Amino acid sequence: MKLRVTSYSGAATGLGRLLMLGTFAWLSGPAFGQMKLIENGLGQSFSQLPFVSPTNFSDSLIEQARQTGAVRDFCQQVKVQYQRYKWLENPCGNVKWRADLHTRLGRPLIYAEFGTVSTETTLLLGGVHADELTPINLAFRFARYLDEHPGIAGAQAHVIIAPLVSPDGFLRQHPTRTNANGIDLNRNFFTADWYDKAQKIWQQNRRRVLAHFPGYFPNTEIETLFQIELIDRYRPDKILSIHAPLGFLDYDGPGSGVLRPLTSTEAKAKRLVKAISESSQNYKVVDYTFYPGSLGNYAGNERHIPTVTLELQTTDPRKCEAYWQQFEPGISQTIRYPFVRTPALDLPNEIDNATPFSTQYPQKIGKKTI
Ligand SMILES: [Zn+2]
Repeated sequence: MKLRVTSYSGAATGLGRLLMLGTFAWLSGPAFGQMKLIENGLGQSFSQLPFVSPTNFSDSLIEQARQTGAVRDFCQQVKVQYQRYKWLENPCGNVKWRADLHTRLGRPLIYAEFGTVSTETTLLLGGVHADELTPINLAFRFARYLDEHPGIAGAQAHVIIAPLVSPDGFLRQHPTRTNANGIDLNRNFFTADWYDKAQKIWQQNRRRVLAHFPGYFPNTEIETLFQIELIDRYRPDKILSIHAPLGFLDYDGPGSGVLRPLTSTEAKAKRLVKAISESSQNYKVVDYTFYPGSLGNYAGNERHIPTVTLELQTTDPRKCEAYWQQFEPGISQTIRYPFVRTPALDLPNEIDNATPFSTQYPQKIGKKTI
């Protein structure tokens, strides 16, 4: 069996690079030709790449997703699923959705862009865990809101919204936390600690709960690569990822878990979560540890992009209107929050007398996981 590796162009360039890092790095030379056993760095060998093979990432995959008809059909599928929860709106509205990639089950990974490119950029993600229904509704609604009110993003903000990162998990009889390959997309990012810890933590702490399975390799999932691609392409100054039902705001990024006085940049980044809290009826804020392979770890901890996880209180589809009322102001504030990352972020002489933010919040809460 031969691995087919197609050339990548345009938007797919980043993906090609990621594949090289995330998967091919673990293939030895002969494996390309003969497909012998492949080691994953954890003492486990496979006769073929588990779940996802590089053949999935072909040009045809990208072309199919770009067909407007594919997005239109997909929006119709989401609308039908919406009706099961008595959500009567049209989720996609008139937003100009784009899709460069599609999932294993052929669904386009849609996203939309709003505002002005040269301003600071916010990436908003929903539906990473597709059994968490309320964030999906909220993210789609915010996209329609920006589309219908162009002045909200306007000249001051640049916003990228991917409202349904795991469409295969959502468009099921019973939506699931994992994608079609049974992978928890918030554990599959290639973080530095992935090979050391992802499977160990899954086996020990999570007692092998399948819904939290990180995969046998990192970066195997197209939905993971989709998020990385958006981060690489748009270089967001901050990220807001919406989940449920833990009921708090969690921050990862500059200043998170720092025990020394924060730099002014760190303090400013960290104040973002406080600002969202204040405009959301003083929503609870926690400083929560991140997991191997999570977005908070990948983007916030490793790449210093302020990353806020908004955990809504429930996944109850009847609560969507209430959550919109509660969190629209905070999300709108997020996209306008004046934080632009600077190269000086890590310079030690930038430390000033800002109050360490983390002392105000508990370091851990319970055993729940984002
Ligand atoms: Zn979640």
